[in-house]
Amino acid sequence: MFDYGIGRPLCQAFPVTNAVDQQCTITQPNIRQRFLTTPRAPDSLRPTGGPSGKRMRPEDVTRVLEEVGAIRHGHFELSSGLHSPTYVQCALVLQHPTYAEQLGHALAAEFHDTVVDCVVSPALGGVILGHEVGRAIGMRALFVERDASGQMALRRGFEIKPGERVLVVEDVWTTGGSTSETIRVVEQLGGRVVGAGALIDRSGGRLELPVRAEALVEQKIPSFEPDVCPQCRAGGVAIKPGSRFARAGV
Ligand SMILES: [Zn+2]
Repeated sequence: MFDYGIGRPLCQAFPVTNAVDQQCTITQPNIRQRFLTTPRAPDSLRPTGGPSGKRMRPEDVTRVLEEVGAIRHGHFELSSGLHSPTYVQCALVLQHPTYAEQLGHALAAEFHDTVVDCVVSPALGGVILGHEVGRAIGMRALFVERDASGQMALRRGFEIKPGERVLVVEDVWTTGGSTSETIRVVEQLGGRVVGAGALIDRSGGRLELPVRAEALVEQKIPSFEPDVCPQCRAGGVAIKPGSRFARAGV
């Protein structure tokens, strides 16, 4: 067992269970009922043991994302105009506070060997997960946002002290652009970025961050120009998810 020096030990908060795979075949109506009737996270999201006892297996994270519809499979037209058989919207899992807390703990556990003074996330996508990572390590969680000129900036009276050790947290990395901007802002303010974390890395190995980077799930998501899309060639019609899934085409 370990803790982060401040806050409760994770083992105590989420005791290890052997019932990891008991809820693998849950249907959507049952999920809805479960959310409405119990605040308890499914066993598939509980820690799986191992050296630290708090980390989550990528397949467990993926399963939950699929169960709540945060990862969907089909034939989609992204806002970029590209077509893809897979669609990701992390807000659909983070809207459930119990899941958000568990995922925050799991991401924090990836950095259990790193001293962190505070968490900084790019708004809007990184705010909830960053907050939950901050909760897990018992440190404050700030966010940067775009100012009137479109530049990422620390606002709202947030402060980073010179030399503070900062963990940057985002929901999805596609190119890692928002995380890179956040790192720049923190460093300009004198902070020291000690790592970057995300729920999903879908960069396909193209991520180039100047700090240690850890994602709970790495997922290569293919996308195609419509005229070479395999599903279009097979006669399928792509669904446009719309503004409800604004980050899908990033
Ligand atoms: Zn297509």
